[in-house]
Amino acid sequence: MPSLTFLGAARTVTGSKHLLNIDGRRILFDCGLFQGLKELRQRNWSQLSVPPGSIDAVVLTHAHIDHSGWLPRLIAQGFKGPVHCTAGTADICKLVLPDAAHIQEEDAKFANKRGYSKHHPALPLYTKEDAAEALSRLTPKPFRQKFSIAPGIDAEFINAGHLLGSAYVHVTGVGGAGILFGGDLGRYGRPVLPDPSPGVEADVLLVESTYGNRIHPVDDDGEALAQIVTDTYQRRGKLIIPAFAIGRVEELLYWLFRLEDQNRVPVMPIYVDSPMAIKGIAYYQSHAKDLDPGIEFVGRHVQRFTATSSAQESKDLVQNDDPAIIIASSGMATGGRVVHHLFAGLGDSRNTVLFVGFQAAGTRGRVMIEGARYVKMYGQDVPVKARIAKINGMSSHADAGEIIKWMRTFPRAPKVTYLVHGEPPAQEALKTRIEKELSWTVEIPAHGQTVDLPL
Ligand SMILES: [Zn+2]
Repeated sequence: MPSLTFLGAARTVTGSKHLLNIDGRRILFDCGLFQGLKELRQRNWSQLSVPPGSIDAVVLTHAHIDHSGWLPRLIAQGFKGPVHCTAGTADICKLVLPDAAHIQEEDAKFANKRGYSKHHPALPLYTKEDAAEALSRLTPKPFRQKFSIAPGIDAEFINAGHLLGSAYVHVTGVGGAGILFGGDLGRYGRPVLPDPSPGVEADVLLVESTYGNRIHPVDDDGEALAQIVTDTYQRRGKLIIPAFAIGRVEELLYWLFRLEDQNRVPVMPIYVDSPMAIKGIAYYQSHAKDLDPGIEFVGRHVQRFTATSSAQESKDLVQNDDPAIIIASSGMATGGRVVHHLFAGLGDSRNTVLFVGFQAAGTRGRVMIEGARYVKMYGQDVPVKARIAKINGMSSHADAGEIIKWMRTFPRAPKVTYLVHGEPPAQEALKTRIEKELSWTVEIPAHGQTVDLPL
């Protein structure tokens, strides 16, 4: 009987790793990094419960680091097989995996300098060479085309609408109607990303539950953003938007260009100050057929923003005092070029800092939206005089209503649905709702648990 072992994203939102065991074969679905609290991050250093060399193949649902970022470590520890993913995922991995390796190397360097590591010398979780090796293992596949992942076992990627290349994976040849590994699930009616594809017949379903107890705000057709842009322009200030380099930037540009086209905002120079984000935009354009037509609208207007590539251009932009919109990473202001913009601009009451994504506990972004009067940067307390704003509607994860809406598109109920990638309160709320509204059988697996699949 096939079984599934939950090695990550079980009762938490990071570290996605689901191991399918069938007829002596092992296939790992997603290979994500644990992030956030220290006790979770420490799991990145633990041995996997099976030797990496005994895993036959890896299948990635998408390139977000909590789904792909442990791959270089798996390979460094002896995994020898192929990594199946979509072409879009392969492209985004080219950006995020080397970047993650760079951060690991910097962290180790910093620990050695400060001498706070238990290990001497502190070593990175993985290196740029490990990341390069991981990229060489990627074998991109088109959507909706079956491919073999082991003798007699096939898989097919179906567009999930959550990020460029994001997919759920339908695995057949394992018995019954197979397994649908939902990675992260996108949203309905958004620009740039397509709606999640309808469900397919499957006996086992894995689905995320990040927002299992939440409903996103009603779409305001860009009105909140329009007001913030207008207000900043009237004060002759800069609008600084910390943004995750991949995914969010495309949607922000879509709304800014659309508001300009509709004469709902004054036209200000727009800068994308992130080499990774600029490459990401190019990848989004090159995969336009897998996305919402909104990406073509962004493509037609690309000449309207200035791509700031070199460090010198970025420094010049920091010094420039003219009204402008500046989009730079990181999204929670924990690092990256946006920190330079904030260091120079936070003390000026003409400016606005706009957060468009979730701000985790302990980040500068969280400190700012909670109303701190000073923020620590480069060892200094920088006074917060700029206006701090937040827009909540730009998540790329389905909310509870959208998850249920997606489940209603299945031809029939799976025999069992496992909720993964969520915190327990969200999971419990979603489980109750699915049981009540759909009468499906729902389980919430624990970290490390193995279940026999009804196939
Ligand atoms: Zn994701």
